[in-house]
Amino acid sequence: MARRTKIVVVGGGPAGIAVISGLRQWSSWDKVQITLLEPSDFHFYQSAWINSAFTMNKETPSTRHIGELFSPDDINWVNEAAGEFSPENNYVLTETGLRINYDYLVVACGLQTDWEKIKGLHGKLGREGITSVASYSTLNWTKSLFSQPSGKVIFTEPSTLCNMHSAGKELIMRLQAKLGVNIKEPTNEITYYSGSNALYPVEACQSVLKDRFKKNNIDWELSKELVEVKPKAKIAVFRNLINNTYFERDYDLLHIVPPMRSPFVVARSALADEVGLVDVDQHTLQHKKYSNIFAIGDIANTPVVKCISAIKMQMPVVVSNIVAGILGAQLLKKYDGTNNQVIMVSEHEAILFRCKFMRHMNLPFSYGLSDSQAIGRLNNLLSPISYWRYLLSAKSSRIPFPNS
Ligand SMILES: Cc1cc2nc3c(=O)[nH]c(=O)nc-3n(C[C@H](O)[C@H](O)[C@H](O)COP(=O)(O)OP(=O)(O)OC[C@H]3O[C@@H](n4cnc5c(N)ncnc54)[C@H](O)[C@@H]3O)c2cc1C
Repeated sequence: MARRTKIVVVGGGPAGIAVISGLRQWSSWDKVQITLLEPSDFHFYQSAWINSAFTMNKETPSTRHIGELFSPDDINWVNEAAGEFSPENNYVLTETGLRINYDYLVVACGLQTDWEKIKGLHGKLGREGITSVASYSTLNWTKSLFSQPSGKVIFTEPSTLCNMHSAGKELIMRLQAKLGVNIKEPTNEITYYSGSNALYPVEACQSVLKDRFKKNNIDWELSKELVEVKPKAKIAVFRNLINNTYFERDYDLLHIVPPMRSPFVVARSALADEVGLVDVDQHTLQHKKYSNIFAIGDIANTPVVKCISAIKMQMPVVVSNIVAGILGAQLLKKYDGTNNQVIMVSEHEAILFRCKFMRHMNLPFSYGLSDSQAIGRLNNLLSPISYWRYLLSAKSSRIPFPNS
């Protein structure tokens, strides 16, 4: 029997699981042997945490055991983190030193939160009015804070790599919509501080969001990064990134989108670009130097807003191109940069952005604000279904497999 092609997938988030599911659609699936490196026992559907923060009773399912996502006969799941890449020698070392050889490597290990960058925060998430939807273990606390907010409300976004550009805006607008009358009282202020110099990475989308913030009485400050919290006094310390000065603001509720970074195992490897992401061709998703290495999702340095829909569009490209490589065919499929963002602004309203790389596409069905209540309901209803049933199982994806 011919040797099976060894494919190692690093990371069992949506990107890694979608690639595995895509490969399973190949009619010659039995020709490959897949190893998944994933240190967590659970897969997290992070978008659902936003809904959880607003819903007191019903939860959107947001976790599944990794072992439930595929049959153990199909995949060899190594419950460890990749500790070192050796792209010249085609192997990955796990953190305990296990050597795993590959013919093809897919890097899908996402971004890491870097809470420690904020001085004084350690051990304080979930206390003294400080919270974050990015922290799964304190979601109940977020829920209770969001249910009765009062006084000064501050939301922050970092200047670092980030996959919550849309999530942060959605949270503040949904909270504001929920507060309704209350937030317009003179004693209440609601401000969004971003370390970035734009409210949103895509210019046309930024202006839509600015209009919406104005309409909703939400103030915003750019290039102002949260660097320290003083929980006892309920003070947040910011650095003005333009003139490098520091200033303090007091708060009653502080919601933090954490600083994020590439995992060190990638950032310090030969796979990384200058910011630590895997350096791939933005169309083929193939590493610029190592042709048997691909990256997908947040860890790839494609110029897109980091989001789930980008993964959905990238998956067929990675799968198809790996199969092309196995068959000795030309790389077939190219990612065209499509990424869609649905930002719920209240329980019944959504903003839809459709972008190609960092350019906004002015398509009739997806441009700007929609007043339709149906959009909100559809988003709530369809997102989890489309995530669990279609993205992770690759059921609805048309993957152009090269002829064997
Ligand atoms: C709170 C929140 C809300 C969000 N809401 C939305 C939304 O509404 N819409 C949207 O489109 N996007 C949203 N996002 C962004 C979206 O979740 C990410 O873009 C998506 O999860 C990226 O998927 P990924 O597989 O690339 O990375 P991840 O989901 O981060 O998965 C990476 C996996 O790799 C594993 N890993 C890490 N290091 C290693 C290692 N060394 N070795 C092996 N495995 C490793 C991790 O354990 C993890 O399982 C949200 C993000 C957050 C945090």
